[in-house]
Amino acid sequence: MQIQAPTGLLSLDNILPDEPLLMMGAGPVPIPARVAAANGIVINHLGDTMAQIIEQVKQMSRYVFQTQHGHILGVAGPGSAAMEMAIANLVVPKSKVLSICNGFFSSRLAEMAARVDADVIRLLVPEGESAAPEIVEEYIVKHQPQVLTIVQGETSSTVCNHALANIAAIAKKHNCLVVVDAVCTLSTMPFEMDNWGIDAVITGGQKGLSCIPGVSLIGFSKQAWEHILARKDQLKHWCLDAKLADQFWYKKSYHYTAPVSGILAIHEALRLVCTETLELRCERHARSSQALQAGIEAMGLHLHVKPEARLNSVVGIKVPDGIQSPELLRTLSSRYKVEISGSFGANIVRIGQMGEQCRAHNLFRTLHAFGASINLLGQQLDLPAGMAALESVLDRHAVVD
Ligand SMILES: *Cc1c(COP(=O)(O)O)cnc(C)c1O
Repeated sequence: MQIQAPTGLLSLDNILPDEPLLMMGAGPVPIPARVAAANGIVINHLGDTMAQIIEQVKQMSRYVFQTQHGHILGVAGPGSAAMEMAIANLVVPKSKVLSICNGFFSSRLAEMAARVDADVIRLLVPEGESAAPEIVEEYIVKHQPQVLTIVQGETSSTVCNHALANIAAIAKKHNCLVVVDAVCTLSTMPFEMDNWGIDAVITGGQKGLSCIPGVSLIGFSKQAWEHILARKDQLKHWCLDAKLADQFWYKKSYHYTAPVSGILAIHEALRLVCTETLELRCERHARSSQALQAGIEAMGLHLHVKPEARLNSVVGIKVPDGIQSPELLRTLSSRYKVEISGSFGANIVRIGQMGEQCRAHNLFRTLHAFGASINLLGQQLDLPAGMAALESVLDRHAVVD
């Protein structure tokens, strides 16, 4: 053997910090203990036990997506793989796709459509604004796309497309399939696949669902599934071919070895959503995010997006003049063991409000660490006023626990 085993390797204990960082960024987010435990189990991917688990995952997903008969598939891959699965299966080469772009992730859908040789029209929504239904309709009438792609919550710019239901209705009126990226929003705010007429819903594990990264779910409407079955051309993607994935998800047969541990983890994450109920879970997220936003403003800081376009699941905060976001992030993580996210462009930082991030103890620790870090870097904020505002909004209703 010519290549020797590397020496001087550190065990994970010596690499990971003694005190784990509290993950309060734009994902991945903290996972519940049950999800972590499920992720440590390996079982036969084709046995009866797995079949029973798959049935429940599909059943629970239909609740979380709010669909009666939606065709649910799992994906061994990140949210981006589920995005690519939606695009690869629904977009026929040379057909027209209208991509509504609010930032990084919604633009990724456009890029994926271009890679399957679609004629992609991009509607670039101005920074800090939600997509306007009238403008979308103008584009649809002008270009007659077969598929429209849109993000519900754009994690990168912290903008929410609040008019999603309206936009989907317009697209349906013009016979256009609607693909929605709900990775950061699913189970954090209302989403109704059937009532809104959504044809493909994409979600990842590590954001709204508070599960592990790398295993994702996708739901296709009846119309979308019929479109997939009717396609005669062979997809260039093998792993992401929905007709092949159907073998595993509906026919107890083999496509590729399913990520069993990850599916078990998703099962537990979905079960926690079902137990909590979507109604209470969305309420918890809204209240938690609003309390955080109130706390940040009361300290004397400004939010990145105006209220009517603002996303609750990921909150963008302007970094005060004289402070650079990297030094702020470093101070937060080294001194307070709290991790939040920077951003791709503007001098903003982002605090996540997804799943386990929306718990009172995590909010108080994060807001305190955030304000104290800014004070430490020389900008004087009213930290007590921020903490008081956080407390009063949280306690205006029942306690977020
Ligand atoms: C994170 C994210 C994705 C991509 O998910 P990955 O698991 O990183 O591939 C897609 N869309 C949105 C809105 C996201 O927040």
